[in-house]
Amino acid sequence: MDLSSVNALMRHIPSVDRLLGDEAVSSIRGEFSEECFKRIIRAALEELRDEIRQGRAGQEDCSFTALAARVSRLLERRLKPKLRTVINATGVVVHTNLGRSPLSRKVAERIARAAMNYSNLEYDLDKGHRGERNSHLQALMEELTGAQAALAVNNNAAAVLLALSSLARGREVIVSRGELIEIGGSFRIPEVMEQSGAILREVGTTNRTHPRDYVAAIDESTALILKVHPSNYRIKGFTREVELDELVAIGRERGIPTMMDLGSGCLVDLTRYGLDGETTVQEVVAKGVDVVTFSGDKLLGGPQAGIVAGRADLVEKMRTHPLARALRMDKLTLAGLEATLEEYTKTLGPVEAIPTIGMITKSGRDLEREAQTLVQGIESAVRDLADLGIEPGVGRVGGGALPMGELPGPRVAVRPGRVSAARLEERLRKGDPPMIVLVKDDAVLIDPRTLLRDQLGRVPTLIAVALGDN
Ligand SMILES: *Cc1c(COP(=O)(O)O)cnc(C)c1O
Repeated sequence: MDLSSVNALMRHIPSVDRLLGDEAVSSIRGEFSEECFKRIIRAALEELRDEIRQGRAGQEDCSFTALAARVSRLLERRLKPKLRTVINATGVVVHTNLGRSPLSRKVAERIARAAMNYSNLEYDLDKGHRGERNSHLQALMEELTGAQAALAVNNNAAAVLLALSSLARGREVIVSRGELIEIGGSFRIPEVMEQSGAILREVGTTNRTHPRDYVAAIDESTALILKVHPSNYRIKGFTREVELDELVAIGRERGIPTMMDLGSGCLVDLTRYGLDGETTVQEVVAKGVDVVTFSGDKLLGGPQAGIVAGRADLVEKMRTHPLARALRMDKLTLAGLEATLEEYTKTLGPVEAIPTIGMITKSGRDLEREAQTLVQGIESAVRDLADLGIEPGVGRVGGGALPMGELPGPRVAVRPGRVSAARLEERLRKGDPPMIVLVKDDAVLIDPRTLLRDQLGRVPTLIAVALGDN
């Protein structure tokens, strides 16, 4: 476009004030302040001018209606909340990308109460002076895990970093080569070790590490023996792993503390529900490990946190380390964590009270019934737009717990007639609320396991809407 026609078009662009006065535009403003809204209008006009210069916009784009649409789009992109509630139909319970553990209403209300009020977060009500935020968790953690002392920080990565920094800075930490893992999201044991200032002393081989390997590595520079839960993988075949009690014995004999990064941190014995392989926190503590760290939002089913439980003197070293302040948990987390831990002491119990545990232990009968309900609901909502069926599938615990432990259960398979399953998946993902599903063999799969109670009834409408607007 030549310069004069660009200039001619530019003259069609209304001013910020005229746009502000326009009814179509001002109706979009809602509760946004004039200052914010003006900034968005200016950005919309700037965008339009750019497009005109590049020959990508014409006179029709300068109308009030077109500009109102542009302002609305920018408002959406820049100022509307981006963190949205989604429906997790993947069957992966502790889905790290989808926020891990959803909390119960009861726990959420405790968080809300702590958020809206002052509290005795760091105030000792008996003595009338400064208190310790971690003291609130002390008794409950001792009760539930048998550990002498406990501390909570921002997440488990922080707990491991804090433990290594306070217990092993400048000294050696012995770890089996089979446990030098990467969890994803850049948590790698060797790198965390380096950050902490501790020196990694690798022993054994990838598949086999023997007690004698640990023994041979111990010398005057040894600060700690560390065992790491392999979380998201397993070494199978010709393997030898040194069990926790063997490590504890080796450490005790030589006066070296042992630490376990347990990862998930389960407090319930899941073998009763047919899931084996996940050692509970209390089992680890009972074996005599000096420090154990785990996440608050994986199998514990609480808010994001990293929990350290163990020997009082070691926990005290961590609590008073300068990093502890930088990594500390906030009061909302404390409220949620306390409320979550309390559920483990009640008659109703975690299976009923903690959504994550409830979903993992959901019975085959309940899942089957929910799948049937879904099929009926979807059938009447979409009629002949899709073929429906129930197929056997496997959900997962996720979050690096029970990596091989699968959660078998029925899945509803939706095979759309007019669009591909991939297209349906995309529409569901971009829906309101977004629904996250798996696609397999040109079917969209819906696993009832991870649908929260009030979501079961909403799924049929979401699918109908996604299939409807071709
Ligand atoms: C998940 C996990 C971590 C990281 O925990 P976050 O709470 O995500 O920081 C560390 N170690 C192990 C073994 C894990 O499974």
